Amino acid sequence: MRNIVDRLSLAAGILALQLLFGADAIAEWYKHQADIMGTRISVELFHHDAAVARQGIEVVIEEMHRIDAGMSPYIASSELSHLNSEASRRPIKVSAELFSLIRRSIEFSELTHGAFDITFASAGYLYDYRQAKRPTARQLQESIDLINYHNLVLDPASGTIRYSREGIRIDLGGIAKGYAVDNCIELLRKLGIRSALVSAGGDSRVIGDRWGRPWTIGVRDPRKENNVVALLPLADVAVSTSGDYERYFEEGGIRYHHIIDPKSGDSARELQSVTIIGPDATTTDALSTSVFVLGLARGLHLVNRLPNIDAILVDRFGTMHYSDGLESARNMDSSVNPSAEPVVR
Ligand code: AMP
Ligand code: MG
Repeated sequence: MRNIVDRLSLAAGILALQLLFGADAIAEWYKHQADIMGTRISVELFHHDAAVARQGIEVVIEEMHRIDAGMSPYIASSELSHLNSEASRRPIKVSAELFSLIRRSIEFSELTHGAFDITFASAGYLYDYRQAKRPTARQLQESIDLINYHNLVLDPASGTIRYSREGIRIDLGGIAKGYAVDNCIELLRKLGIRSALVSAGGDSRVIGDRWGRPWTIGVRDPRKENNVVALLPLADVAVSTSGDYERYFEEGGIRYHHIIDPKSGDSARELQSVTIIGPDATTTDALSTSVFVLGLARGLHLVNRLPNIDAILVDRFGTMHYSDGLESARNMDSSVNPSAEPVVR
């Protein structure tokens, strides 16, 4: 987390320069929100040329729609739906983009010893959180063996993917939003935009800072929608939060939510939320879902051994836990996490 502290002092320097030269006066602030990929998309950017700023917002919205159309399991015509319906019968040729995102997903499965596994959907599709519907014990038992990323057979030479068993399904919901955010950031960079924030639900990434001040992203209280338990000052990083409050229902005092432990096919319940800070949103997205499944001890252990990755975990009692890097940054500079001290409950 030294990075964030370094960037903070850099941000303070830029602010001082701008106060001297009045840079705020030449750039304008643009903000746009839309509902795409089943989530809230938000773009904020600064630019002195209104046409470039508008173009920036347009390319972000287009890119989000493009990824949704190709990778949503809820859209029957998506490339992903086609793969799910055909790949247990024969190898299916997919786009280089889908191939490589599936390959990255498998790398995260390996890194997390299977906590992240896109084949979770083989059982995951049996849940409907809006209708408070979940699989019976028998259904779960039948589908649990299908959850195993080793059942995905990728052939880089032909660009095909095959499922080794009937009934396997994949879902990129734990990584695709972060990937979309990364693509958007790249598109904005190409337009010459040097200060922007793109977010898709809980996955965000920023370019630069907010004209001299860091961008701030709040980590919400998992049990109180409008409360923030930490404010992160950020520049040039990505942040993802996975929480058990996003999509869930309760039955008999048990919360059934959308992050599934591949070992059981049931929701992971050791944590209430996981926030990951890292260099790109594909990584932070996949890791926030992974660490949620891994739980407190194994999750923190993984984060602490990964370079340039930090985390804030809220456990099932509402207590906050920090990765080593954030813990030492908090000790060095209280402004890194100003609102975190009054810990939830
Ligand atoms: P996020 O909000 O990024 O934590 O992603 C949650 C989404 O990831 C869920 O809605 C599922 O689509 C997907 N997901 C759930 N459990 C897993 C898992 N164990 N591995 C990979 N993806 C998962
Ligand atoms: Mg995620």
